[in-house]
Amino acid sequence: MTKTGYLIDMDGVIYRENQLIPGAREFVDALQAMGFPFLFLTNNSAPTPEDLAVRLNHLGIQGISPRQFYTSALNTADFLGETHPGCTVFVIGEGGLLTALHEHRIASDAIRPSYVVVGEGSVSMERLGKAHECLERGARLLATNPDNWCPVGAEKTRPGAGATAAFLEASSGRRAYYLGKPNGYMFHRARQKLQELALGPVGQVAMIGDTMETDIRGAVEAGMYGYLVLSGSTALENVADYVYQPTRILQSVADLTEEVLTGKASDRLNSPVFAGEGPAISRPGHRHQTDVFAFHKPRPRPAMTK
Ligand SMILES: [Mg+2]
Repeated sequence: MTKTGYLIDMDGVIYRENQLIPGAREFVDALQAMGFPFLFLTNNSAPTPEDLAVRLNHLGIQGISPRQFYTSALNTADFLGETHPGCTVFVIGEGGLLTALHEHRIASDAIRPSYVVVGEGSVSMERLGKAHECLERGARLLATNPDNWCPVGAEKTRPGAGATAAFLEASSGRRAYYLGKPNGYMFHRARQKLQELALGPVGQVAMIGDTMETDIRGAVEAGMYGYLVLSGSTALENVADYVYQPTRILQSVADLTEEVLTGKASDRLNSPVFAGEGPAISRPGHRHQTDVFAFHKPRPRPAMTK
C-alpha cells in the first residue's frame, strides 16, 4: 500500500518566532518513525536547505537532511533550468536564491539579463534601480513567491518578495510571474521530490500549512489535501472568507501525531467548516497575506522605449 506523503509548511506550523510550536517535534518524530515521506515546503527564498536543517536542529528537531526541504528559491531555479536553459538573471535576493541559481548554472548578468529575479531579503534603492533598468531593456520579471508581507513575530511583519516585485511592476509597467506557493509548479515539483524521497509512488499528498492563500489554495488546485493549522497566521473566523476551503482544520500539527502513529483518523479532526453552519463571516477589509490578483496598476510605457 502506498503511504500518504506530507508537505509541511514551516513558519506558523513548525515554529513561530524562533520558538518550536508545542508538539511539532513529536509529529516529525512520528513521521520518521513510521516511514512517511515528507518534505518541508517554504516560500522563504532567503535560506538554503542546509541553513534550514541547521535551524531545525537548533530548535530540537534532529535527523533532517537538507534533501527534505523545498524552498521557493529551489522552485525558481528548477523552473528556469527546465523552461529556459542558458538564460541569464539579475537577482535581488539572498544566499538561498543565489546558491540555487548557481547550482543550475544560471549566470548573473547586470547588463542584458533574460530575467530579473526577485526573492526575499533586504534590498537597496540602488539595486532596485538597476533591476528597473534591466526591465526597461527587455528583461522579464520573475518573483520567487507572492508574499507581500511575512510574519516575524506575533505583532510584527516585514515586507516580502511580493512587495518588492510590486515595486518593480509599478515602475516598469511589467507584470511579474510568481513561483512558490500557491503556483502549481511548486506543488508539481514538490510531489516529484516526495516520490524521490519515498523511492517510489506516493499515495495521497497532504499539505499542512497556516496560510489560506498559499498553502491551502495551492493544495486544492493541485488535487492534494489541504490541512489548515491555527498555530500561525490564520484565525478560524477568517476561514469562511475564502472560496477554497481546507480539507481539515487543526489546532496544530500535534493533532496529527496520534493518527500518524496509529493510522486512524479521529472525528474531531474533521473541518468544522463542513459541519453545521461553520464560522461566521469575519469583518470586511481583512488584508490577505498574498493575493497576486488583488491589484492591477497599468502604467503607460515611457516614450523612450517607443
Ligand atoms: Mg506559514
